[in-house]
Amino acid sequence: MICNDCPRECNIDRKTQVGFCGFKDKIVVAKVIENFMWEEPCISGAKGSLAIFFAGCNLKCNFCQNYKISFSTNGNEFTPKQFCEFLEKFNQEKYSCIELISATQFSSLLIESLAHFNKKIPIVWNSGGYEKAQTIELLSEIVDVFMPDLKFYSTSLSKTIAKAENYFEFAGQAIIKMRQCKEKEVFQGEQLIGGLLIRHLVIPQNSSDSIKLLDFIAKNITSPFISLMCQFTPTENSVIKRKIYPLEYKIVLSHAQKLGLTRGYIQDFSSADESFIPSF
Ligand code: SF4
Repeated sequence: MICNDCPRECNIDRKTQVGFCGFKDKIVVAKVIENFMWEEPCISGAKGSLAIFFAGCNLKCNFCQNYKISFSTNGNEFTPKQFCEFLEKFNQEKYSCIELISATQFSSLLIESLAHFNKKIPIVWNSGGYEKAQTIELLSEIVDVFMPDLKFYSTSLSKTIAKAENYFEFAGQAIIKMRQCKEKEVFQGEQLIGGLLIRHLVIPQNSSDSIKLLDFIAKNITSPFISLMCQFTPTENSVIKRKIYPLEYKIVLSHAQKLGLTRGYIQDFSSADESFIPSF
């Protein structure tokens, strides 16, 4: 299995070697949370997701809140066949959807694994957005909802935070491909069962980067459905050491409104938790 699944393009044989992500040819699951309610309401739904947190990450942002998982390769290992069997043991009726969280480093293995999965609820691909358009096209066969982050526009910002100078070059094209594969949002009641939800976390000192990303979305994505988040919290590893100021978030929200990007969610700045408010 020569791996060029993601923009790191390690071009190594994962039977015997590891690339940037650190994984060989097994799917590694770090944690499973049932009835997970911490996503946007159209994802969590009434029952919460079956949230599968995969080990590692192909980005490893230095502000990552999940760094104990994303910087580690520890977890339960599965072959593609075993992972499909593992997933089929859950009673899908108990959940709103199945969320595959930070799974880019296992893309090919999951495409193989879930090709014949007996799916009864939507599968949501919750990713950092650092992906290749070719891989997204293949993933669209097994995924119902793409929920990528669009994190950085500036090459210096993505280099400093995630050692991925070419982040936007790839993430922008990956998101365009996601829109081509899932042309519009499909709802069942309040639940999103198909489509694309683009997330963006505003980074302190970088409102101007957010504005460039919003301009890109407005120009390139038809009927965008977006979630603008303000929950940045520095960790001991982050190079940015403060939370965002209300004014920084306000500038970004005003720009979204000016562009007509009003389908989606924002967060309540004053709220201690991470609640999402529908529309602007
Ligand atoms: S998935 Fe891992 S091995 Fe494959 S290209 Fe990306 S970082 Fe490299």
